[in-house]
Amino acid sequence: METKRCAACGQEFQLKSHSPRQAYCSEPACQRARKRRWQKEKLQTDPDYVDNQARAQQAWCDRHADYWRNYRSEHPDYVDLNREKQHDRNAWNRSKVIAKMDVLTVEIRVPSHLSKLHR
Ligand SMILES: [Zn+2]
Repeated sequence: METKRCAACGQEFQLKSHSPRQAYCSEPACQRARKRRWQKEKLQTDPDYVDNQARAQQAWCDRHADYWRNYRSEHPDYVDLNREKQHDRNAWNRSKVIAKMDVLTVEIRVPSHLSKLHR
C-alpha cells in the first residue's frame, strides 16, 4: 500500500486505493484543515460559490431574525420575565450608584480643622 505525507500535519498516512489524490490524513483536525483550504480556494476562484455563501448567510440571518421576532410574540411570558429581570438589574445598578455616592459624601466632608475656622 502506498503512503503519503499529510498536507496539514506532515505525518505519513496510508493512501486508500479509492482516493489516490488524497492529500490529508484522516485526523479530524486535518480533515477540517482540508475543508478550510478547499473553501478558501473556492472563495478565491468561484464567484458563484461566493455568491451562494453570501446568500446562504443572508438567508440564515433573515430566518433567525424571524425566529426571535416570532418567539417573542408567541411567548409573551418570556418577554415579561425578561422585563422583570431587567428591572431587577436596574434596581441593583441604582443601589451600586447610591453606595458610591455614600463613599463620595464621606470623602468630601470638610476636615475638622477647617470647619473650626467658621466657628
Ligand atoms: Zn494530518
